[in-house]
Amino acid sequence: MTTDLAKFAKDNGVKYFMISFTDLFGAQRAKLVPARAIADMQEDGAGFAGFATYLDLTPAHPDMLAVPDPSSVIQLPWKPEIAWVASNCVMEGEDVAQAPRNVLRRLIKEAADEGMHVKTGIEAEFFLLSPEGTEINDPYDRAAKPCYDQQTMMRSYEVIREISDYMLELGWNPYQSDHEDANGQWEMNWDFDDALVTADKHSFFKFMTKTVAEKHGMRATFMPKPIPGLTGNGCHAHISVWDAPGKKSKTNVFAAEKTDTPTGELGLSEQGKHFLGGIMKHASALAAITNPTVNSYKRINAPRTTSGATWAPNTVTWTGNNRTHMVRVPGPGRFELRLPDGAVNPYLLQAVIIAAGLSGVRSKAEPGKRHDIDMYAEGHKVRGAPKLPLNMLDAMRAYDSDKELKASMGEEFSAAFLKMKREEWNQFVSHFSRWERENTIDI
Ligand code: ADP
Ligand code: MG
Ligand code: MG
Ligand code: MG
Ligand code: MG
Repeated sequence: MTTDLAKFAKDNGVKYFMISFTDLFGAQRAKLVPARAIADMQEDGAGFAGFATYLDLTPAHPDMLAVPDPSSVIQLPWKPEIAWVASNCVMEGEDVAQAPRNVLRRLIKEAADEGMHVKTGIEAEFFLLSPEGTEINDPYDRAAKPCYDQQTMMRSYEVIREISDYMLELGWNPYQSDHEDANGQWEMNWDFDDALVTADKHSFFKFMTKTVAEKHGMRATFMPKPIPGLTGNGCHAHISVWDAPGKKSKTNVFAAEKTDTPTGELGLSEQGKHFLGGIMKHASALAAITNPTVNSYKRINAPRTTSGATWAPNTVTWTGNNRTHMVRVPGPGRFELRLPDGAVNPYLLQAVIIAAGLSGVRSKAEPGKRHDIDMYAEGHKVRGAPKLPLNMLDAMRAYDSDKELKASMGEEFSAAFLKMKREEWNQFVSHFSRWERENTIDI
């Protein structure tokens, strides 16, 4: 593991570091720092005016310093003279409480203090569009059921291969890539890891995918529903909890056969079930984090797409190996949360999973009855399961009323997040749309 960035530069021929942090809206911000200055920056951090980003800071606040975490450094495989490094936001010697990577680090520590080490794998779906972002890049990708389309894959091979090669080079253990359920949509999978490592890789994957797409004259987007009528971009998270972090972990404590409850439901241990119980209990509130944009609610609650299914949930339900629910237990020892979408902030995604899961474990929450049905066909028969929020405002209100989740994510974070998101919502509703003219003009 890298601990000295100046040495890393010398050993690897790095000329510049991209000192990067992620704000509340998920935007990655960076300064380009020549290797000659990195030793000091590693100590003191790179200076930013926090107000210029989405962190709910004012122009009068002191400088915010982004202090690189050397363990996250990645030499850009497509531009090896640059190295990207995730950093932690600090102001006057204190962590900026609402900065997403700090929120996650604090929750990881809390979980570790209770002996829980969360590991996750994410599936960051994306579209390859024209540079303007309005059309699917491949004009021949028009099939009604384009999922796994072999011919289309060959036409986009150079982009997918390049990203896959880089993941191989970086040792992420990528294991498959495919055309997804919407025209123009792709998914690339790599191995799960500790929550913070997955969050950093998730951030870097978005950066890398957008960059490679641009290089090929395309636009990659993770927007939840970029093309009306087609399946949207999910960002499913697979979750398990282990006895130790990193390579020291030996036991998946979510796996029923490794615990004293060998007959655990679907192979989930008692702790796994309570963690899931926490996710179910806080689902409507955590949607404000996992589905953070106006556009997010065109993916969940969506009418059937041209492929025949949305592959996105609309109700808080769980089941076994069946993709029509919010939570799927694909096999023993883990579960898949299918709610998050491509707009999710990589750090807040992991943070809210841990916050809700910890709440469940602490209160021994039960996930409730399983519904082993096709939710798309028979969802209307389910009684007592809450519907997911219908829009961003409902989700923010649900989050605001969930005192426990708000406190666990941090009061400062929650206040800052809700404030900035409310401003965004108000901007959206004050936007005069063609729809309202067309539907109101002759009233
Ligand atoms: P899906 O069947 O949902 O499309 P994918 O193969 O696309 O699944 O993605 C599965 C993700 O789950 C990968 O990132 C994989 O490494 C991860 N995963 C597998 N086992 C575990 C586990 N025990 N804990 C956390 N993540 C896991
Ligand atoms: Mg200046
Ligand atoms: Mg997948
Ligand atoms: Mg998928
Ligand atoms: Mg999945």
